[in-house]
Amino acid sequence: MIRLLAATCAVALLAAPVVAADRVAEAGRLREAALATSAAYPLLESLTTEVGPRLAGSAAEARGRAWAVKAMTAAGLSNVHVEPFALVAWERGLETAEVVGPGAQRLVVTALGRSGATPAAGITAQVAYFADLQALKEAPAGSLKGKIAFIDHHMMRAQDGSSYGANNAVRTQGPAIAAAKGAAATLIRSLGTGNGRDPHTGVTQTPKGQVPGPSGALSLADADQLVRLVSRGPVTLKLVLTPRFTGTGQSGNVVGDLPGSAVPNEYVVIGGHLDSWDLGTGAIDDGAGMAITLAAAKAIKDAGLVPRRTIRVVFWGAEEVGGEGGEAFAAAHKTDAVVLAAESDFGADRVYRVSSRVAETGLPLVAEINRALAPLGIAPTKDNSAGGGADVGPLGALGAGILELEQDGSRYFDLHHTPDDTFDKVDKAQIDQNVAAYAVAAWLAASDERVLRAK
Ligand SMILES: [Zn+2]
Repeated sequence: MIRLLAATCAVALLAAPVVAADRVAEAGRLREAALATSAAYPLLESLTTEVGPRLAGSAAEARGRAWAVKAMTAAGLSNVHVEPFALVAWERGLETAEVVGPGAQRLVVTALGRSGATPAAGITAQVAYFADLQALKEAPAGSLKGKIAFIDHHMMRAQDGSSYGANNAVRTQGPAIAAAKGAAATLIRSLGTGNGRDPHTGVTQTPKGQVPGPSGALSLADADQLVRLVSRGPVTLKLVLTPRFTGTGQSGNVVGDLPGSAVPNEYVVIGGHLDSWDLGTGAIDDGAGMAITLAAAKAIKDAGLVPRRTIRVVFWGAEEVGGEGGEAFAAAHKTDAVVLAAESDFGADRVYRVSSRVAETGLPLVAEINRALAPLGIAPTKDNSAGGGADVGPLGALGAGILELEQDGSRYFDLHHTPDDTFDKVDKAQIDQNVAAYAVAAWLAASDERVLRAK
């Protein structure tokens, strides 16, 4: 009797924590169900097989949006729609590089995204070697006139992908810097790891008012070869790169909701980007992010759970070419109360770490999420300063709380932006672990009422 009375009092006094315990128990059930199997692997198989590559602004990206509307609807999401936006479209042409004269041989090259073109017949010019971007920056003005600048650098394998961030400017800024010093074209060592002969594409940026010069990336093996050749004496290359800008194109963000019961106008946003580079089928970058986040929302729906806040799945368009989709989404939804945003855009391998950037009042909820993720082998970080990534970054700048479920990037840059970014590289158990993590995090954040927004 006393025990019963005590239990009743405890329930009365601790009504909120009992509800919280239910939420956490549901999170545990979602986690175990997704680990057993999830919808992500078949979704990714369908996308990469039926749509394939999805270059921003292309007809293929539009087919990707149609696929996404169908997939979100079939998963049981509501309010499924496309939010279109325009962009400058670009497409790849021919791409060859060959050493002429002594040591004549072909090198494997691919044009960087939004690169300019050589004449159709190509250019033949001497290679000017730069050990790193700083060496290129220090070259005197005009000193590259008529030459092909080659920028070397060494990206290292790292679980958190930090070496990509450190070397990214070689690709995004190097070609424009070389062109401003008179270079006829620019080649870089691919931003990647491993030793394959597949070159890694990726966007290069040209400041307003400057005409984009032709720029490409050599595979890592071919960059090594060029370094050996250059060490023996002057090297002349014939380079053909004929990509072209095709005018104003259409892209769009695809949105679908799991509506909240109590506060439907508060949003927990999860998603990945819909566009991909054109060389592979965009399996790890970023079909995986789409599949993981849609499968997580579907897992919550299939479990019969109704969140308090709306869980919104977003597939952003045109991330690769400049983050236009993330910017367009934030601009269109700047008055929406996005309480938390998390994007999956680092492959399909397991989540190993969580970081966040939320208001002080949201830290206990982040601690609760961390505890529910621990059985998945995911460790919390201590800081609260996560950036979130290209697509949710603009939402974070508007005050949204940010959660990063950080994936193991150890092998990501072997495949990233190459013809090898294909479905066969995806490990089902690891992608399901990602779904478990997103389902847990989205459910706990959307079934709660604690304040996560920074402003
Ligand atoms: Zn990506």
